[in-house]
Amino acid sequence: MLKTAILGSTGSVGTQALDVARNNPEIKITALTANKNVAAIEAQIREFAPEYAAMEDEASALDLKTRVADCGTKILCGREGVRELIASTDADAFVNSVIGFDGLFSTLEVIKTGKRLALSNKESIVAAGEAVMKLARESGTEILPVDSEHCAIHQCLRTGGHGEISKLIITASGGPFYGKTKDELENVTLADALAHPTWSMGRKITVDSATLMNKGFEVIEAARLFNVDADKIDVVVHPESIIHSMVEYIDSAVIAQLSVPDMRLCVAYALNYPQRLQGATPKLDFFKTAKLTFKTPDTETFPLLALAYKALKDGKTRPAVLNAANEIAVNAFLREEISFRHIPEVVFAAYEKTPEQCELTVESIYASDGEARRIAAEETKAITKNRKR
Ligand code: MN
Repeated sequence: MLKTAILGSTGSVGTQALDVARNNPEIKITALTANKNVAAIEAQIREFAPEYAAMEDEASALDLKTRVADCGTKILCGREGVRELIASTDADAFVNSVIGFDGLFSTLEVIKTGKRLALSNKESIVAAGEAVMKLARESGTEILPVDSEHCAIHQCLRTGGHGEISKLIITASGGPFYGKTKDELENVTLADALAHPTWSMGRKITVDSATLMNKGFEVIEAARLFNVDADKIDVVVHPESIIHSMVEYIDSAVIAQLSVPDMRLCVAYALNYPQRLQGATPKLDFFKTAKLTFKTPDTETFPLLALAYKALKDGKTRPAVLNAANEIAVNAFLREEISFRHIPEVVFAAYEKTPEQCELTVESIYASDGEARRIAAEETKAITKNRKR
């Protein structure tokens, strides 16, 4: 029996993780957390009967409590409730599929338990990767990435030693706007940005895929998870999304991981490693796949990928600044307050203007995050004002 808690259970990866549990009686769900989607978590509680559930939003927690009064699930409330849930549940592993920087809280709480962390919340590793990896080493928490590229690299790394790595090659679908020029990006709409060609994902990450910010974050994520320098990480556009990433070794051998694009494979891998789960996803049909193509990423048109490399090299709290500025810009785009081309504008401006912290601690990461958010919000406001004129 694999006892599992899902943090952020109502989002895209959270629901896919529950689907893995639904199809595998060996996985028992012990706890669920969500922000405020009461209807969705109520249905999950009725189906999976966890011992605990927590809602970060306090009013939602009260609502949930009345709704599931007939169930045996203990309902906890707010940040403190999430903390108590993580400390008390007898799960063997946690899936952290919370969206955005907020997920860092759950990541740090899970690490305190020393239990396995199946990490889908990439923002926590982007913003606080060095601190997170250090704390995880100290507590004995094993972090398994629930991100298709990093799950692929994790698998490819099982064929060689760390000193034998010559390159991590992260594949990118290119998103909905691959091949477009800067001019053509002027008038793209929110609906265009949300129409991802190969992956079905949440709204925030879908926009991040369209700007290539997601790929930039994945470069930082790979550097932190696998302890590899920026100059040993390449990005290759591979529109079919069949090869999920590769590792090139010093003898020039390249190991790739292929499968249909389906996050459930990553969830199953992260929970069951070093074993594999029977039938986690449908099988790949080579004859239907027909061809695999590779192209260069266009960092002129999509400059956020280049900025991520810079943030990784700048180090310290700079990746946290990048992440925070991007969250503000993307949220403003999702509310249709700024246009697509404004996203990099806001992020670059906030990155420039946010002062560097002298030390790298969890506290300085939170401070940088707050400061970058404030500055990015000002940039966003200035753009909105100009647009209305
Ligand atoms: Mn990914």
